[in-house]
Amino acid sequence: MTLPRHPSIMIVGAGPVGLCTGIALLKDGHRVALVDSGAHGAGWASGGMLAPLYEMAADPTCPDPYVQFALKSAELWQVLAQTCAVDLQSPSLFLARTQEEVEVLLGLQQRANRLGLEVATVPVPAGLRAQAAFQAPSERSLDPRAALKSLMNQFQSLGGDLLVGQANAISPHRLGLLDGRTLEAETIVLAHGFNATSFRQSVPTLKALRPVKGQMARVAHPELASPIVRAGRIYVLSRSGGLVIGATSDPLAPPAPSVDVDPVLTLLSEAKELLPSLATAAVVEAWAGLRPDTPDHLPMVGASGMDGIYLATGTYRNGWLLAPAIGAYLTELISGKTLDQDLMNLFAPERFSS
Ligand SMILES: Cc1cc2nc3c(=O)[nH]c(=O)nc-3n(C[C@H](O)[C@H](O)[C@H](O)COP(=O)(O)OP(=O)(O)OC[C@H]3O[C@@H](n4cnc5c(N)ncnc54)[C@H](O)[C@@H]3O)c2cc1C
Repeated sequence: MTLPRHPSIMIVGAGPVGLCTGIALLKDGHRVALVDSGAHGAGWASGGMLAPLYEMAADPTCPDPYVQFALKSAELWQVLAQTCAVDLQSPSLFLARTQEEVEVLLGLQQRANRLGLEVATVPVPAGLRAQAAFQAPSERSLDPRAALKSLMNQFQSLGGDLLVGQANAISPHRLGLLDGRTLEAETIVLAHGFNATSFRQSVPTLKALRPVKGQMARVAHPELASPIVRAGRIYVLSRSGGLVIGATSDPLAPPAPSVDVDPVLTLLSEAKELLPSLATAAVVEAWAGLRPDTPDHLPMVGASGMDGIYLATGTYRNGWLLAPAIGAYLTELISGKTLDQDLMNLFAPERFSS
């Protein structure tokens, strides 16, 4: 099949990574097409947290170049959100339920201050049960389902083409679709989240990709004064007049998007400990998604080892946060620009080639 405008770059997957990469490449002057199956990806199922402090800087073992990359991406989001009409919510309220969590958050506060970011101690708001509370104005969130639509509008208004189809075969510069079509491009970027693993026979580094199932729920409950409340692995987001509660994390669950009773019950009961008024709230919706994880929990972004094929996956818990910086990084890589060697070493798919 010949594409109408002969894209030089074909991206598989219109999730946050594929869309942000497509937008960055179009802005850099490339001709880009996205191929998407239309199925809900992890991005649709996500909480939409843009939280480099809580997710990266809080972990003293997280490599510094990766923390910086995530912070840069959070900054890029502020610009992208304006151009794409994506609403960003803030601030985040971090709650400590135990003395151990108080210590962790004090450590996070110190690291944030060293990075020039504010994390202030505040009183625990009425209705929430915790020992201490910290407010972080720079930690934001977005509504993933609305943001996917806004990013797609921006991609198409910049001249990007969208093809509906399921990629099921890959060879140098060529993509096969389930309906029998074959598409060609100078460069193909595999950005279809955990599903990229279906190409592991052709691209062996993708064998390292593994699913971490996550489940979430929406409940009918008045919004909270703080739009983002976090405690341990739990978050409660005030969104569209109700509360969104996330998220379970199960690396051993089979890679199926089913909603399962036990994990959701545990999630809701942990959230109820934090916010006792949830006890009488109605569950409106529950859903699941598969985070694309790697053995070192760092993304896989770069040349795949097959001619003309790049990978952009392995974003684990932070695909929304990282998407704009991955888009910028891949645009530079594909354009042959010099990149930070530390980051290239951290993200190189070939680190899993053995
Ligand atoms: C419950 C949960 C909560 C999360 N919370 C957060 C959070 O708060 N913040 C954050 O930053 N990240 C979060 N994540 C992680 C984040 O969602 C992922 O890292 C991110 O979505 C990965 O983006 P992606 O674009 O690579 O893939 P996906 O979002 O999975 O999108 C893949 C796209 O590819 C398409 N596709 C799939 N297979 C094919 C195929 N064969 N051919 C063509 N198209 C195909 C799908 O239709 C989809 O549109 C969460 C994930 C889960 C599951």
